[in-house]
Amino acid sequence: MILLLENVDQLNDFISRHKKIKNRIGFVPTMGAIHRGHIKLAKRCKEENDISIVSIFVNPTQFNNKADLDKYPRNLEDDISKLMSTRISAVFAPSEYDIYPRGLKDDNKVNLGGLDEYMEGAFRPGHFAGVAQVVKRLLDLVQPDNLYMGQKDFQQSTIIQYMINSLNIPTNLVVCPIIREVGGLAMSSRNERLSPDTRKDAALIYKTLKTIDLNKNKKSIADLVAYGMRKLSQYEFKPEYVSIVDGNTLMPVDNINDSDYVVVCIAVWADGVRLIDNLILKQR
Ligand code: AMP
Repeated sequence: MILLLENVDQLNDFISRHKKIKNRIGFVPTMGAIHRGHIKLAKRCKEENDISIVSIFVNPTQFNNKADLDKYPRNLEDDISKLMSTRISAVFAPSEYDIYPRGLKDDNKVNLGGLDEYMEGAFRPGHFAGVAQVVKRLLDLVQPDNLYMGQKDFQQSTIIQYMINSLNIPTNLVVCPIIREVGGLAMSSRNERLSPDTRKDAALIYKTLKTIDLNKNKKSIADLVAYGMRKLSQYEFKPEYVSIVDGNTLMPVDNINDSDYVVVCIAVWADGVRLIDNLILKQR
């Protein structure tokens, strides 16, 4: 049985009970529409902690596009039944008022060290301020020992690690590998909005990332980026960016040898749906 915590009072009771007996708390924040990527995070969280909590909250402050927020799938019952197999301890499904009792405006904006200015930050103004706002609030409430996030949202996990460091939050961030569909498309709740044909064509995204990886020592960064932009313009696809960046600073690298941690990140529109993906070209 998974315990359903529907508001902050219920969560506070639960957390204080477990803190008192020094249980290790693991936490996976999600916006619901649970898929295999989330399930993998939840399982790992369950394995590595005494208590495991998954939150389901569609955070309005991280959507820069109202239509995207309105279209976001919401089905708590379905999500909980998908999480059953993970045997996590609890789902925290708060209301907007629980998370933002004083309204959506952020009076305590976290400095994100400029990491929020590039890539997703450039195309989705205000997005990371909203992400930092909700993750900060959730960490204050849940006080987890371990926080589990996906490499799928590479810039997001980099920014959250920066926030944890700069605010001295006593939580260890665990970044988990990207879970993909059979053809290679990274799992995402947005994939449901693709037509069957586009979903098949979207295998192109991972193929492009892998080709960039194969050629990383043979071609210049400029050529790799140009190749990616060209490849991702096939079918009806429209790439927003192909960026090859330092994994810590998120600044574009001029040469693959300029850093020992290099990641290629992309965003592409497919069938009116915005998809992101990435691949680590050089691991720390
Ligand atoms: P979301 O519900 O989309 O906000 O995602 C919640 C968490 O799941 C985030 O930390 C995501 O990075 C992670 N996640 C989403 N998709 C995947 C995936 N395909 N593989 C691994 N983690 C993922």
